[in-house]
Amino acid sequence: MNASSDLQATLDSSRKSWVESANDPASDFSIQNLPFGIFSDRRSDARRAGVAIGDQIVDLAALQAAGLLNVSTQGDVFARAVASDTLNDFIALGRDAWRSVRIQLSTLLARDTATLRDDTALRAKVMVRQADAQLHLPVQIPGYTDFYSSKEHATNVGSMFRDPKNALLPNWSEMPIGYNGRASSVVVSGTPVRRPNGQLKLPDQERPVFGACRKLDIELETGFVIGAGNALGEPVACADAEAHIFGMVLLNDWSARDIQQWEYVPLGPFNAKTFATTISPWIVTLDALEPFRVAQPVQEPQPLAYLRHDGEHAFDIHLEVRLRPQLAKQASTIARTNFRHMYWTMAQQLAHHTVSGCNTRVGDLMGSGTISGPTDDSYGSLLELTWNGKKPLELNEGGTRTFIEDGDELTLAGYCQGDGYRVGFGTCVGEILPARR
Ligand code: CA
Repeated sequence: MNASSDLQATLDSSRKSWVESANDPASDFSIQNLPFGIFSDRRSDARRAGVAIGDQIVDLAALQAAGLLNVSTQGDVFARAVASDTLNDFIALGRDAWRSVRIQLSTLLARDTATLRDDTALRAKVMVRQADAQLHLPVQIPGYTDFYSSKEHATNVGSMFRDPKNALLPNWSEMPIGYNGRASSVVVSGTPVRRPNGQLKLPDQERPVFGACRKLDIELETGFVIGAGNALGEPVACADAEAHIFGMVLLNDWSARDIQQWEYVPLGPFNAKTFATTISPWIVTLDALEPFRVAQPVQEPQPLAYLRHDGEHAFDIHLEVRLRPQLAKQASTIARTNFRHMYWTMAQQLAHHTVSGCNTRVGDLMGSGTISGPTDDSYGSLLELTWNGKKPLELNEGGTRTFIEDGDELTLAGYCQGDGYRVGFGTCVGEILPARR
């Protein structure tokens, strides 16, 4: 078999694993998925690379040390990359290396492969229960950019704050609007998030007051991680852009709406967005997402030439948001939507980002922008779900919400539905702590 048919075999929907939990149709981590992350556990607090399978993690450093995983590199470059505390060095080995690891793991974990399945001592060395592991930020992120690419979201926000008749500004349909975010405050799922303080402009007062945000919100987004950078001055063509993407995560772009509304003119959000951005710990590769590729929405007007690409560049990813108040037993699902609604594609975002000559680096994170669907239960922010607080949401166990309260836990979840299996992202969770006084 050649490399491309080996890669195709990793996507075979009939392939099952000897890790039985991976064969549960509701598991996010089927053998078709194999997402990459960074973990530590009770045996070793050293952070290292792992791949999720069912309720387990495959320890890539241990597998390499056992002689069961190899990528040909100079000296021990591969061994050091998988034993590193971030995935950057592994990702920098290039797409052929990621694909080779994917193919080797898919074979080792397949039900018919006895190597690990029948060797208890070896399994004890290389398999870790997710329940016994701690997950860490998977990449060191040199730069974070956030886009604004959902037509429904941009239309809703424009209707609320400007004019429902001209909700979209003229530039929106011509380019993926974005801004440079703050990489230093990107945190991994599970990290508590403190409510920010800042300048608030109350309607009945001439000058702003300083205080805790009163309109704390989520933004349901996905993010993509750069797998191959581009040099300064060398734009990435739209047709080549997907080859520069390692994979995707769920991303919560926490937003302080009251701080944002006062500060955003003329340069865009600043303190309203910089206090925290949460991402899910597992990076799902574009290779694993390939069976879920679908057509993007029709773009009218036709984009300028540098933003055109042939073929299908959207992905069918079910997404939802859950809110659990501090003392509640159950979370309430407050929104359900799908990534396929996004107007601008990831390829167009990257082509536009670099067309000026701006360089990107391995590990750079690009947020999709809030993902809102066409119906009022498919919006990706409380701002839209409650129409800026005018329509409170009813929660399962009683009570309502307009914006986030202290102690609330917000969870993003997402998966692609295959035939009897899922390629999922796990969850992206954050609990809100009271503001500093
Ligand atoms: Ca955003």
